[in-house]
Parts: sequence; C-alpha cells; structure tokens
Amino acid sequence: MKVVDLTQTLDERTVLWPGSEPFTAVADDGYDADGYWSRHLSTPEHAGTHLDAPIHCVPGGAAVGDIPAEQLVRPAVRIDARALCGGDPSWVLRAADVEAWEAEHGRVPEGAAVLLCTGWDAYRTDPAAYLGEPLGFPGYGGDAAALLVERGAAGLGIDTLGVDAGASTDHAVHRTALPAGLWHLEGLVRLDAVPDTGATLVVGALRLPGASGAPARVFALLP
Ligand SMILES: [Zn+2]
Repeated sequence: MKVVDLTQTLDERTVLWPGSEPFTAVADDGYDADGYWSRHLSTPEHAGTHLDAPIHCVPGGAAVGDIPAEQLVRPAVRIDARALCGGDPSWVLRAADVEAWEAEHGRVPEGAAVLLCTGWDAYRTDPAAYLGEPLGFPGYGGDAAALLVERGAAGLGIDTLGVDAGASTDHAVHRTALPAGLWHLEGLVRLDAVPDTGATLVVGALRLPGASGAPARVFALLP
C-alpha cells in the first residue's frame, strides 16, 4: 500500500488565517534529571492542515471530538482543477464542474471525502501569494457545495486556507456544508498525488471535545 501524506508541517512559519493567535512551541530548557525533554504547544484550532467541525458555524453542532471515526476514514474522490483554476485566485468550483467530473468518473459516491486540487499548496511558504492581498485564493462555490451535500459527501477538502474562496463574503460553503453535518479539511497539500478515484482518506484529527477545529495528520491510502 502506498501512503501519501497530505499534511503541512506545523510550526511558527505556517501561514495562518489573518488575525489568528500565533502558533507557539515552548521547549523545556533541556533534558531533565530523569532524561526527558518536551515542549508546550499553543495553537489556533484552525492552523495548518486542519479539520473544521460543524460547531464551527452551527451552535450546538458536532465538535471535532464528536465526529465518529467512521466519518474520518472515507473513500476519497479528487477533483483536479489545476487546469481550470490556472493560478487564478478568483477561481471558484461550480456545480457544473462537479457534473463534468461526474460525466467522466461517475457520480460522487455517498459517503465520499471530496478533495479539490487547485495547486495552491505551491504557494504555502509565501504568505502574500497563499493568502492574497487582499484576501484571495480559489475555493468551492456555494452551488458546488450544495450539489455535494445532495450527493451525500462526508466532507470537503481543499489545498488552500479555506473551502470558501478567499474573496467570498457570504461563506456559502461553510453555511451549506457544516449545517448538513459535513466536515471540512483545509490547508491540505500534495493533492496532485491523489488519484481521482480509488484512494482512502484517513483524517487523524486530535479528539478534542468542544473543538471547532483541530490540526490533523491526513493520509491518502492508495490501492
Ligand atoms: Zn478551518
């Protein structure tokens, strides 16, 4: 089995959502008398490669720690939109693009994790390009999210900082998918290495009760 790691490294250099508290890691001075060394982490819930839980936008919705393991290990479909997007930060996936994908690969299966590959992870070490100034990066459109909810997707992932495009003001994807019980994965990397169909996605998010999101180690298992 081939394993593709879809996770960014998480440290002080990771590009965070503007206005976030910083990620910090405070290290012990050295190994203690018993021979142990460790660090103390402080991190936004939505830092680096991370999971969004419904409670992020839905009061009383499921938190990260409430999401059953079965919902975090799912068959994956990848929509390769690199050519469609072409590096345009204003590009948005439309329902018609999902239907065009389905015409080629078959209907998005119920329970699938949908991964949108825009190629934006190439910019992740350059905050101005990754975030845009003003905020701008590609994303799902609300109509595409509504169609994927109708298909019964388990979750929506993307290789940008957010499933909604950076310029979005109505955040239609968050307002559509989270109330329907889907999760989001944001800040993914290496979706170019995931096949359009046939992979299994494993989302290793911290099991935090009450959490709106959590950093996650995410793997695609290839057949
Ligand atoms: Zn998030």
